[in-house]
Amino acid sequence: MNREIAKELLTHVIDPEVLYHQAPCGYLTFTPDGTIIRINQTLLNWLDHTEEEVLYEKKFGDFLSKGGQIHYEMFFRPMLNVSGSVKELSYELKTKHGAFFHVLFGAVAIKNDQGHVIAVNAILTDNTDRKHYEKELLVARNQAEKDKRNMQFLADLTPDLIWTTTPDGEIDYINARFANYFQVAGRKFTQEQFLERIHDDDRAGFKTAWAEKLKCGEPFSYDLRLKNHNGEYRWHLVKSVPHYTDDREILKWFGSCTDINDHKLALTKKDEFISVASHELKTPLTTLMGILQVLDRIKSKPATPMLSEFIDRANKNAKKINSLVGELLNVGQLTAGQLRINKEWFNLYQLIDNCCQYVRTEDVFEIDVKGDQELQVLADAGRIEQVLINYINNAVKYAPNSGLLTISFKVHNEEIMVSVTDNGPGIPAEKIPHLFDRFYRIDSGGSQYAGLGLGLYICAEIVKKHGGRFGVNSELGKGSSFWFTLPIKEL
Ligand code: ADP
Repeated sequence: MNREIAKELLTHVIDPEVLYHQAPCGYLTFTPDGTIIRINQTLLNWLDHTEEEVLYEKKFGDFLSKGGQIHYEMFFRPMLNVSGSVKELSYELKTKHGAFFHVLFGAVAIKNDQGHVIAVNAILTDNTDRKHYEKELLVARNQAEKDKRNMQFLADLTPDLIWTTTPDGEIDYINARFANYFQVAGRKFTQEQFLERIHDDDRAGFKTAWAEKLKCGEPFSYDLRLKNHNGEYRWHLVKSVPHYTDDREILKWFGSCTDINDHKLALTKKDEFISVASHELKTPLTTLMGILQVLDRIKSKPATPMLSEFIDRANKNAKKINSLVGELLNVGQLTAGQLRINKEWFNLYQLIDNCCQYVRTEDVFEIDVKGDQELQVLADAGRIEQVLINYINNAVKYAPNSGLLTISFKVHNEEIMVSVTDNGPGIPAEKIPHLFDRFYRIDSGGSQYAGLGLGLYICAEIVKKHGGRFGVNSELGKGSSFWFTLPIKEL
């Protein structure tokens, strides 16, 4: 198309007056004192005014907030006089009804031949959305800051050591526990420092496993020993998970080290216990099987003089197995919280006397029972008998040369106190606090002291179930007095 024809066509299509009034931005012309002498429809719409209300009637300053007016006088006007233009000033304009909206404001001064400003041409862009976004952004930033502080507060509260690393594994955050465990100043800790604190036997394995997970970006978990600031190694479970961006890039690794030292020790203890228990059971079982083999061989000769001795020994070993299995069953019940107490009235003296019968038949000990022969108590007779038999059996086992065993009971301070006292070797003071713990045994080195370290633990649990107390008074070389109480109020 011919250029001239095109230009001619455009003069018909584009009416500059329409363009001026309907532009997506506001146009404004005012005199140096601010009087508005020209304004487009777009800006009138924003201000909710008609042209008649504004032209020659209003000054630009009339539409500004107080702060805006001060800024206009102190900055805008001097700036315009000096440089002839201003750009991107942010103002709040007031509508006819008193609402405010944000505009971005640019202006050019029109000067006469003497260089005096005779009018100002301004362009205003509605900035409300941007202001809105800025406000939202600020709120979001404040919220993020608050969330971060909350997270750090929480992280500092947890008993675990919490940390984060960069995608390549450099530690960039540690919580208070972490800093405290390793006694780190300024919460700065490098990967190398962390590796140094790992037990020599665990370090290489951890390094390989961690490097592999860093490469493939999968969750990580590892048991290792970490040295604390006292130089003590404690078992920890290290866990780490990668945090990905939407583009599947690793942003950070979040990690924790949980102290599992007690758990690990309990597992070791359990393993030791299983081996002790198997050994304890195997010894009488092997003896029993041996006796049965002999009995099998001599079954056709019932007149053998050794027969009754073999049967006795078989019975003893079967009883031993039975009592060991009984202890194991009791512990199982205790752990499952199923130990039931069925209270009934019984005569305590008679119960104690019955418990002593079998020791008396063996004729190893002289037994002296002291207490009110008429005293009736309300408790689980079977379970109290179990406690007494355990105390008496222990005296037989661990104080075999005691000679005299004194069992006494008396009512004192609203409770019945029962004690079993031997004249045996006594117990070292440092061992006493642990005697009633599960699996605790004093390593006496002698194989005649068979046991699982469960008897006193079971006694303690039975007494506790009755609401009573338990303990031992003992001194090396001066014998031991194992005691328990039953509260009278509960009876
Ligand atoms: P076990 O007899 O199966 O080892 P117990 O819980 O009954 O387990 O006893 C725990 C430990 O207490 C025993 O290993 C023993 O060393 C010590 N003990 C118990 N009674 C006496 C006692 N009368 N004299 C000395 N030591 C005792």
